[in-house]
Amino acid sequence: MPGDATVTPTRSTVSLRAPVDAGPVVLPEAPDPAAARRLIAAAAGALLDEHRQLEAEELAALAVVPDQSVTALASVAHEVRLAWCGPTVEVEGILSAKTGGCPEDCHFCAQSSRFDTPVKATPFLDTDEVLAAAAEVAAVGATEFCIVLAVRGPDARTLDRILELVPLVRQRTGLNVAVSAGILTDEQALRLVVVGVHRYNPNLETARSFFPQVGTTHSWDERAETCRRVLDAGMELCCGALVGMGESDAQRVELLLQLRALGPTEVPVNFLNPRPGTPFADRPVVGAWEAIRWIALFRLALPGAILRYAGGREVTLRDLQAMGMTSGINALIVGNYLTTLGRSTAADLTMLAALRMPVGAFTGTL
Ligand code: SF4
Repeated sequence: MPGDATVTPTRSTVSLRAPVDAGPVVLPEAPDPAAARRLIAAAAGALLDEHRQLEAEELAALAVVPDQSVTALASVAHEVRLAWCGPTVEVEGILSAKTGGCPEDCHFCAQSSRFDTPVKATPFLDTDEVLAAAAEVAAVGATEFCIVLAVRGPDARTLDRILELVPLVRQRTGLNVAVSAGILTDEQALRLVVVGVHRYNPNLETARSFFPQVGTTHSWDERAETCRRVLDAGMELCCGALVGMGESDAQRVELLLQLRALGPTEVPVNFLNPRPGTPFADRPVVGAWEAIRWIALFRLALPGAILRYAGGREVTLRDLQAMGMTSGINALIVGNYLTTLGRSTAADLTMLAALRMPVGAFTGTL
């Protein structure tokens, strides 16, 4: 139940030096509907009654339940979200403070300078522009503001700008400030903590076994190492996934286990919105029902995490966006994404009001 102090959150159970990669996952045969009902009931018992996380084998079995069982899966995921995190929805605005011109080659990304995309490189925004964007985010009741930069990692000048901006945004708006600026050194992570960055975002994006097909200019391990540095420095870890790049279902389960081993506070769930000019421009969009299945599985794998709707939800879920909120999601990015438009903030707030989900800072049981 909400506020139950006996619940053990995900991240506190994970050693910061636990092995992150248990290797590729093999999925079992799909169960028939009756067997699927038993599997879902067993998962509910584990997460809601025993307050324990699911074993890798349990997650793998749930990943292959038939489509007709997805509503039951989603229903349990929603109960798990309420029990482990409470009813509050954390709302965040993100700002692309330095757009495009990135030297990396992530095949899904329109901000890479290696691909001929409509996104043109723009310099770091002025301080006044960043403060104005933060004020807009605060005005809609959001509690989080994330400053995002399209870089491999921050160079000295970029880091200095971030260090200057974060205290200003915090003082002027009262928002919690997160940063996403790629791969960090230990020293950079510590300097971010000193100015009050409470959460840092290096996305893993996908399973370790699939990552070589997504990018070649940095490795999955470099991202995972930055995740470790974020935690070691004392920041909360925000570590996202991008579903629908061509990875298999087994690789999605592999990613869930790898995320869980890192112990993120927050996991943004992105769905591929294929961008013109990128190597993944022709990849198909994930279907809405498939997306609901994976939202539920993310919640069942990461019961205590802030699971945030992020990029691609509009094109993937379309009319099922509210259903995602009752399938395990408990946070939203509102407004626009980095290079694509989101739906209006008013539409999202109306949806949350209709669902009777209060907006606020996530406290849950953590
Ligand atoms: S995902 Fe990030 S690191 Fe990769 S190309 Fe885009 S901006 Fe650069």
